[in-house]
Amino acid sequence: MIPVTKPFLPPIAEYQKYIETIWQRNWLTNNGPLVNELELNLKEYLDVPHLLYLSNGTIALQIAIKALALKGEIITTPFSYVATTSSIVWEGCKPVFADIDEKTLNIDPLKIEAAITPNTSAILATHVYGNPCDIDAIDKIAKKHNLKVIYDAAHCFGTKYKGKSVFNYGDISTTSFHATKLFHTTEGGAVFTQNADLLKKIAYLRNFGHHGPEEFAEVGINGKNSEFHAAMGLANLPFIDKILASRQQISIYYMEALKGLDVHLIELNQDADFNYAYFPIIFKNEDSLLKALSLLNQNWIYPRRYFYPSLNDLHYVEKTATPITDKICRRVLCLPLYYGLSTEEVDFIARLLLRAQNN
Ligand SMILES: *Cc1c(COP(=O)(O)O)cnc(C)c1O
Repeated sequence: MIPVTKPFLPPIAEYQKYIETIWQRNWLTNNGPLVNELELNLKEYLDVPHLLYLSNGTIALQIAIKALALKGEIITTPFSYVATTSSIVWEGCKPVFADIDEKTLNIDPLKIEAAITPNTSAILATHVYGNPCDIDAIDKIAKKHNLKVIYDAAHCFGTKYKGKSVFNYGDISTTSFHATKLFHTTEGGAVFTQNADLLKKIAYLRNFGHHGPEEFAEVGINGKNSEFHAAMGLANLPFIDKILASRQQISIYYMEALKGLDVHLIELNQDADFNYAYFPIIFKNEDSLLKALSLLNQNWIYPRRYFYPSLNDLHYVEKTATPITDKICRRVLCLPLYYGLSTEEVDFIARLLLRAQNN
């Protein structure tokens, strides 16, 4: 069986080393020493000024919306994971969809500008597949219209934009360290901001608003993460460069192996260093995707239609016309990509894709 992704697991001894210290201290959660150590190591590895480790990437989005006190309409992409939209609705705001760019599959800045109304408070954009949005254009629009910007950077561990971590952009960037992500802590997430006041507020928000044991500075939630999750992150982090390099190699191998296949790839942001978080291919039409998917599944290979369906189809949102997303989401397939996927397996996948096309 070849799944679309497999979580990386460090040698078990590396993990146990950290777990033993939990037994020694009897400190399991509530901003413990392993959480602190993970935050420090991540700050150093990513070269970001601040970050806060949270229980997952969805709570990171919700806390970001709450911290910026957003109201009314938030312009967002219909081509993302459901958490991007559901977080907006959960926080009592209204998602307004702006269509994507056909080449990058990221939200199109021109469509953002067209969707702005007097009720718009922010833009929530996803760097789809780890490939950064047109950050400069989005920043410009946000400044001009006095809007906040949140980036859902759940796919972006290791991605750089203009030489810096892409997590440095926007009023707040959020990420996920879920098991299926390129760097993971089993479950987990983080928020990044350059703004010290905002950071302080988010630190309250993630811990029930506690300001000492008896005082509460904010309406908070439980967004903390545990020592056990931090231990997984600490054990995984030393392998991250190897993971990133292998994903790049596999992706380049795919590109070579798929020559002759009538699909196209996403256009990468020229100002970015891509992290090869996913390997999406875009078919000419849905029929050819379904044919390929069926043949792969018959051979125990499970790529994933990601993202499908469009978030515009959720029953709890107001529908907007986003023709490019409607078209693309039916034609895009993410191929298996993970540390340890062999070149023989990539060759096999490529052969099946070509056979499905030529049948
Ligand atoms: C994974 C993901 C999330 C949610 O993160 P969790 O840690 O699973 O809550 C949000 N947005 C995008 C784009 C994702 O891929």
